[in-house]
Amino acid sequence: MANFSYSKPLIIILLGPPGVGKGTIAVALEKKLNIPHISTGDLFRENLKNKTFFGEKAKNYMEKGLLVPDELVEEMLYKRLKKEDCNKGFILDGFPRNIPQAQYFAKIIKNKKITVINLEVKKNILIERITGRLVCKKCQATFHKTFYPPKKEGICDLCQGELYQRNDDKVEVVNKRLLEYENKTKPLIEFYKKNSNFYSVDGSFDKEKILKDILSKIKQIEFK
Ligand code: AMP
Repeated sequence: MANFSYSKPLIIILLGPPGVGKGTIAVALEKKLNIPHISTGDLFRENLKNKTFFGEKAKNYMEKGLLVPDELVEEMLYKRLKKEDCNKGFILDGFPRNIPQAQYFAKIIKNKKITVINLEVKKNILIERITGRLVCKKCQATFHKTFYPPKKEGICDLCQGELYQRNDDKVEVVNKRLLEYENKTKPLIEFYKKNSNFYSVDGSFDKEKILKDILSKIKQIEFK
């Protein structure tokens, strides 16, 4: 495996609809590249659990499958990015979700070069993936009832935490989230084709193959 080492911070955005596998891939990439994975959805869920200001404000939107107002997400993300572990770079999952967030992000990173990995999967597969997803309450690892079941039902393979289905992964909310993606997030594809190192990757394969494809794209940016 190549040794990934860069003179500039490696800023990666994982783009794609809910359920495409951004979280799973981000966790694997974090290990390979040794830069933190930052999921705004996970940050909100953490804040919800701890009943913080951000959590209380975001709760209603999240339950309905709607995007949380930009100012709130941006403030929460800004705080996270100021931590030292982000100096070498980071992997964003779930941010930006619309053009204004992307413009805000460009400003705070002072227009540094971004690498965007756009994961693509057909809609019927997405729904199957989301509604069968199980998440660990303790370490946030994800499993799937059919495609990637835990060794012991209801228990996380990694930390023995309890697995649950996210409220917004229930079928009633999923369609709303997919609509939000179509209307607000998908336009980012054209935006980033112009404003980043942009690569599309087929997300319908197994994790190892997707990871290999992404790493081969990331390797290319060294030579640009
Ligand atoms: P996710 O885990 O990325 O699917 O996010 C779960 C929920 O958190 C979303 O449905 C939104 O309500 C909220 N959320 C996460 N990231 C963002 C964002 N960048 N902008 C607005 N809302 C977000």
